[in-house]
Amino acid sequence: MKLHEYQSKELLSKYGVPVPAGDVTTDPAEARSIAERLGGNVVVKAQVLMGGRGKAGGVKLFTNAADAGNFAKDLIGTRLISNQNPTGMVVDKVLVAETIDIAQEFYVAVLLDRNIQKNIVMISAEGGMEIEDVAVEKPEAIVRIPIDPAWGLCDFELRKAVKDAKIPRAAQGQMVAMIKALAKAYVEADADMIEINPCALTPDNKLIAADAKVSIDENALFRHKQYAATSADSADDPIEAEAQKRGIAYVSLGGDIGIMGNGAGLVMQSLDEINAAGGRPANFLDVGGGAQADRVRNCVEIILMDTKVKGLFINIFGGITRVDEVAKGVLAALDQIEVNIPIVARIEGTAVEEGRKILEGSKVQAAATVQEAAKMIVALAHA
Ligand code: GDP
Ligand code: MN
Repeated sequence: MKLHEYQSKELLSKYGVPVPAGDVTTDPAEARSIAERLGGNVVVKAQVLMGGRGKAGGVKLFTNAADAGNFAKDLIGTRLISNQNPTGMVVDKVLVAETIDIAQEFYVAVLLDRNIQKNIVMISAEGGMEIEDVAVEKPEAIVRIPIDPAWGLCDFELRKAVKDAKIPRAAQGQMVAMIKALAKAYVEADADMIEINPCALTPDNKLIAADAKVSIDENALFRHKQYAATSADSADDPIEAEAQKRGIAYVSLGGDIGIMGNGAGLVMQSLDEINAAGGRPANFLDVGGGAQADRVRNCVEIILMDTKVKGLFINIFGGITRVDEVAKGVLAALDQIEVNIPIVARIEGTAVEEGRKILEGSKVQAAATVQEAAKMIVALAHA
């Protein structure tokens, strides 16, 4: 789960990483007053969870507060599109920070290297540009050191690494200190990536994080509840974000047959059967075990938010989940939202007879097997 730049900088500064003074806001008038407080020489930066904001026009330098405020006004509410994120993201807040004089830009990161199954530090004197481009054009300019899980990073290996990376002498000690701080923050925040690009060297030889991107392992979010709201922001797809808010496991897949099943395995089987029947699934959605009517209604609502959906396929095997509860949930959803698409359900298991009775005479057509249900919904959706 990605954190915003301002959150990343807040976190890292607690570990002693130097960051520019600044503040975040959703209000252009406040952006202007923050700029005034900082003396007018400021950079205004869109706080959206994507890379390449600079090239996309989401980062701009100013020499007076009025211009900074006007830019914030233009920027807030617009959709920022970058080559890394072609659908783009809407800007709802900006970071206003003091402008750093940059003599040189470096790259430094701590991240998980799945190939060697260790965390690593990456350093390069070729900062500012995308590290992926550096890796292709000038791979020798990137120095990688694995972090030993038992004894961590040693000073001597860090000093050698920053030298090998051609970090200038005047910045080497500061770079070693910064990497140690990043590595500590990485472990304690349950991060899977921390990236400073650019890590700026000022003309008077001070090292400072001009940008910061931290990503936290979602499985550890229960230990970092302050980031729960950001978690929904980080979903690129607005329906996925809404599902996350409602606590529903939903992944958008781009097709036109909406899928709802109980249990990840059953949902994956549903995806296969829809594909085998010549259709394309719109989503993955797991209602979960023991689903109650209210939850099922929420799930149907989420699926139908995708306007591409032309048919709804329901695959429920009642074990812990009672099929009659699911049926009630589906009907409750149909009562509350206008549904003009065909719905086919394969229901089986606990309380299946009661479930079938509930669905009788409703919009929902029942099928005896998964394969039959899949064929039916694909045919109906494309009729
Ligand atoms: P990104 O494009 O999303 O990675 O956003 P960055 O925060 O890295 O900003 C893009 C570029 O703007 C950086 O590579 C810098 O060259 C420039 N930039 C950002 N902050 C400052 C600053 O305080 N001073 C100067 N001179 N340039 C800055
Ligand atoms: Mn950057």
